[in-house]
Parts: sequence; structure tokens; C-alpha cells
Amino acid sequence: MRVLVAGGAGFIGSHLCDRIYAEGASILCVDNLLTGLQANIGQLLDRPEFTFRQHDVTQPLEAEVDAIFHLASPASPNPASVKSYLAHPIETALVNSQGTYNLLELARRTGARLVFASTSEVYGDPLEHPQREAYWGNVDPTGMRSCYDESKRFGEALSMAFARRHGVDVRIARIFNTYGPRCDSTDGRVVPNFVSQALSGNPITVFGDGSQTRSLCYVSDLVDGLWRMMMAEEARGEVFNLGNLEEHSVIEYALMIRDLCGSTSEIVHEPLPAGDPTRRRPDISKAARALGWEPKVFLADGLTRTIAWYREQLGRGAAAFSAGVGR
Ligand code: NAD
Ligand code: UDP
Repeated sequence: MRVLVAGGAGFIGSHLCDRIYAEGASILCVDNLLTGLQANIGQLLDRPEFTFRQHDVTQPLEAEVDAIFHLASPASPNPASVKSYLAHPIETALVNSQGTYNLLELARRTGARLVFASTSEVYGDPLEHPQREAYWGNVDPTGMRSCYDESKRFGEALSMAFARRHGVDVRIARIFNTYGPRCDSTDGRVVPNFVSQALSGNPITVFGDGSQTRSLCYVSDLVDGLWRMMMAEEARGEVFNLGNLEEHSVIEYALMIRDLCGSTSEIVHEPLPAGDPTRRRPDISKAARALGWEPKVFLADGLTRTIAWYREQLGRGAAAFSAGVGR
């Protein structure tokens, strides 16, 4: 099987490439390195069944493939990070619209299946809790996050239009907050920020009072869900939430991470970014039923592995390691 991974040099994409390689398929990794790093796929670059193509998927592309994962898009909402979608609002809107169109066209021409990486952000600041796939969401179409959440909603709609009009085999993954090694410490998301800050002894920046909740999924679990979505016949034309059920407040994550790092960093509060959702937890019963999927990695284990990775980066003085991005 020949698999194209758009956004394959990013955090989730690089773990997905590792998994696909382990499954014995050949990989075409396409990435423009806007927020990703070639170092994330360094372990695969000299393998015979792995090809890296530096390319912006908002431009058309040709390839002979059987399966396409579309993960290309900035994913961090932190306005202080140069890697966030707020720093690249037009690129973000385009990669999820024009980029999705180009990849759907490629799927139509080649007969490949396509898994589109959508997001829990399509539910906006949800009025239903936990969020089921059938929930339509509460999204501000012109808000700060709209370049991201509205373009993901459009990407979903376009995928379904290709399925209905051209019979393209599409599958939509609504990914909830995911963490783990290789999540860029400069992109300002909650786990890389808190871990970097705790390991550096810098203040841990909790936005707002920290009562907002998130449910964090370890990256290997998420990647397993994406792979199952690609392989399962029942997933054709379907939408699946992928995420962990364990929900905590942001202040709880700050305290947990500080403890696991053995850090004495103080916890400081900064203003809550506009549009920051109040609560988020997936209902994953559909994925459990249809894909036999559920997360396996406990939060403390996942955080311990993640902290060990950042500690190693810090020890090596890696260029990608930052001491956390405030607001
Ligand atoms: P990431 O920023 O680490 O990876 C995204 C990758 O896409 C990067 O390597 C980037 O260089 C690449 N890219 C961006 N624009 C591109 C373009 N025009 N052409 C080619 N490549 C391009 O982010 P991630 O956390 O790995 O997220 C991967 C996908 O999963 C994204 O689509 C994101 O919206 C989705 N997602 C992630 C999370 C999460 O918690 N990590 C949650 C919900 C959804
Ligand atoms: N957050 C925080 N401090 C940080 C980074 C994030 O308090 O340094 C909060 C953020 O306000 C949000 C949650 O952590 O409520 C998750 O943020 P992230 O950017 O990881 O993802 P989001 O779920 O907002 O897309």
C-alpha cells in the first residue's frame, strides 16, 4: 500500500508515519515545514520505502497512492507563538479549504481513500457535553479562531461533497487535544508550554483562572485511531471523534505537570484568550463500536514519557526547545 501523509513532518503526522512504516506500507510524506520540522521524520529519511516531498498542499500535486491522510494545518491557538494558526490565519484557512480540495481531487483521480484530520474545534465553545459527532457545534464564524474552526468545518463539508458527488471514499476524524513527544515546544500549546516552563524553572502560565477543562489523548492512541479509521470498511463516509475521556481543568494539568517534573516553578495567571472553549470532552462510543478503538495510555504514563522526551531535548540544547511561550 502507498500512503500519502500531508503534514507528515508535524507532531501527529510524524508519529503516524512511524506507525504506517511499521505496518509495512510505503510513505510519501508531503509537508511545507510551516510548523513542522524535518527532524521529526529524521529516523525515516534514509529508509527505502519513505519519501519526503517539501510541498505546499494549497498547490496541486500529483502522486500515485492508495490512501491519503490530510493532517496539514497549523494547530496551535496561542497568539504568542509564531507557529500558531493565529500567526498564519490565511495559510490556515487555505490549507483546510484549497489544500483539502487538492487532496480530494487527488483521491478522486487515483481512487485513494482519504482521512481528513478535523478537530474538536468544530464544536466551538460547546453547549453539549460531552460532545457527540451528531452535535452541530457553537462556533463564532468571524471570531479569532474562525480561520481554523470554520476552515475545518468547510473541509468536512467539502469532503462530504466529494463523497456524494464523485463517490470518493472519505473519512473524517475529529481530533481532540493530543500530546506527546515532538509536539513543538515553541507552538504554545498547553502540554509543551507547561512542561517547558516547569523544566526550565520558569513560571507556569495558566490562562484565566484555569477552570476551563480539556481531555488529553496520548499521541500513540490517537495515531492508532487514525490508522483504524483508514483500514475499517465501516468508516467510509463517517465522522469519528478521537480523544481521551479523562477530563481535567487546566489548573489541575499545571499542578500535575509541575509535580511530575519535580519543579518548583510558580504558577501565574494570564488573561484568557478570546474564544477559549470552557469545557471539552469527547464521546467516543462511535469509534469504540465501529473501530474497536479506545485510548490505552493513562495520563500519568503519557505525561511521564512526554516529560522525559522534553528533558532529553533540553539536555541536548536542541534548537527546537523553548522555555515556553506566554501570551
Ligand atoms: P503540527 O503543526 O505539528 O503539524 C502540522 C503539519 O502540517 C506541519 O508539519 C506543517 O508544516 C504542515 N503544513 C501546514 N500547512 C501546510 C501546507 N500548506 N502544505 C503542506 N504542509 C503543511 O500540528 P499537529 O498537532 O501535528 O496537527 C496535525 C493535524 O491534526 C492538523 O490538521 C490539526 O488541525 C489536527 N488536530 C490536531 C490536534 C492536536 O491536539 N494536536 C487537535 C485537533 C486537530
Ligand atoms: N493554556 C494555558 N496556558 C498555556 C497554554 C494553554 O492555560 O500556556 C490553556 C488554554 O487557554 C486552553 C487549554 O490550556 O484553555 C488548552 O490550550 P491549547 O492551546 O493546548 O489547545 P486548545 O484546546 O485551546 O485548542
